[in-house]
Amino acid sequence: MQYYESVGSHHERMCEVQQTVHEFMDDVVAKSVAQFEFHQAVQEMFEAVWPIFERHPEFLEARIPHRMVEAERIIIFRVPWIDDSGAVQVNRGFRVEMSSAIGPYKGGLRFHPSVNLGILKFLAFEQVFKNALTTLPLGGGKGGSDFDPKGRSDNEVMRFCQAFMSELYRHIGLRTDIPAGDIGVGAREIGYLFGQYKKLANEFSGILTGKNPGWGGSLIRPEATGYGTVYFTEEMFRAKGDTIHGKKVLISGSGNVAQYAVENVNRLGGRAVTLSDSDGFIHDPHGIDAEKLAWVMDLKNERRGRISEYAEHFGVEYYAGQRPWGVEGADVALPCATQNELNLEEAKQLIANGIRVVAEGANMPTEPDAVRLLIDSGVLFGPGKAANAGGVAVSGLEMAQNAGFTSWNREEVDAKLLNIMSEIHRVSRETAEEFDAPDNYIIGANIAGFRKVAAAMIDQGVV
Ligand code: NDP
Repeated sequence: MQYYESVGSHHERMCEVQQTVHEFMDDVVAKSVAQFEFHQAVQEMFEAVWPIFERHPEFLEARIPHRMVEAERIIIFRVPWIDDSGAVQVNRGFRVEMSSAIGPYKGGLRFHPSVNLGILKFLAFEQVFKNALTTLPLGGGKGGSDFDPKGRSDNEVMRFCQAFMSELYRHIGLRTDIPAGDIGVGAREIGYLFGQYKKLANEFSGILTGKNPGWGGSLIRPEATGYGTVYFTEEMFRAKGDTIHGKKVLISGSGNVAQYAVENVNRLGGRAVTLSDSDGFIHDPHGIDAEKLAWVMDLKNERRGRISEYAEHFGVEYYAGQRPWGVEGADVALPCATQNELNLEEAKQLIANGIRVVAEGANMPTEPDAVRLLIDSGVLFGPGKAANAGGVAVSGLEMAQNAGFTSWNREEVDAKLLNIMSEIHRVSRETAEEFDAPDNYIIGANIAGFRKVAAAMIDQGVV
């Protein structure tokens, strides 16, 4: 149980914990062969929370961990559609309905060629505990397809979305399952998906979040994940009597989360100097200011171009095939692209270069051994479950606005987002202290989320 090794007095007990986690994991792995990301997410979770069973043996008696790793329901379906050349294409669609212990299933849809059941189970599993941390009544789910929107025309994306929703619509609903966006699913895709749902169900209801504000979306939803990650980072600094003001920040990705992380770093007086995509990263030592960010948003959201064009346009360095973690002199790193995009070697580089805070805008971007090293080296580490929960939190606020036939202004939603992020930070911090692991947000966030879901499961009996 490496996370605890620094807590010497607990060492023996923690070795027992590690042994128990290993036995539990053997079972999980046997039942989910080759679902590597799912194994990784489950292992990280249960290594962190296992000590809670000493205080709450009833959770083990009720086999809560064994029930939690088994999705309540998984739907896998064929998505046939016709491309612009008239050829028939076939993709695979998924919805993993992981847990409805504290509310209807809630979580994004991902369209990316790497999507498979293991990745979606990892994301749905993480989502359950993240949603519990938001303080909102949301269960956890995730879905998507191996469809790649890159290089596809708007018409092709529309036809794919319509084909995808033609099956998904019978499984979702206001009190059942409310999907949102994720990688490859932004405002355009949510629009097409919503249109098809409305046509099939003959009802206009908020069954998706991330809608445009003109027809039921919440202001600040596009900003929420990136803004929230930076609010969480600010809270981590504040806990040490400092702020993000004047800090140099490395950001990966250049999609939704990365873009609004840059914007909020700028608002809070920091300086974001990198962005990336799957081909490489740019380093702009002067900082990605509001004007440059507007250019990036046009590049990525409208023209759908590559980040290398930034380097040509603004005359800065582009590093093909590399990630930004080797850039020197940064105080903060915010991985905001995808899972497993910050490895042990890169963590060593960050530490050698004096990094102080790492907060995950993406889901599980940091590999487990890198997480351990960062924490053991005294770097403040904000896990995605806590640090990127702002997106789903504002999705929850979008649902509340839809249910009340109302909409709140930007300031109101932004203030609520800040409040939720501060609360997630406080609960994670306090729970870590309660379990003798001060500053360890992995332990704090996981135990706080787990405890809430487990208690609800006990209340509701064996279902
Ligand atoms: P986008 O599709 O808007 O952007 C994704 C970015 O990550 C792009 O720059 C993309 O580059 C890059 N990327 C994707 N896959 C890879 C890969 N395999 N290797 C390298 N780079 C990659 O997605 P989001 O910004 O919405 O999501 C980013 C992360 O944040 C994901 O982990 C997601 O699960 C997480 N997240 C998102 C939330 C949201 O509200 N959107 C909420 C909470 C978490 P390229 O264009 O080259 O593919």
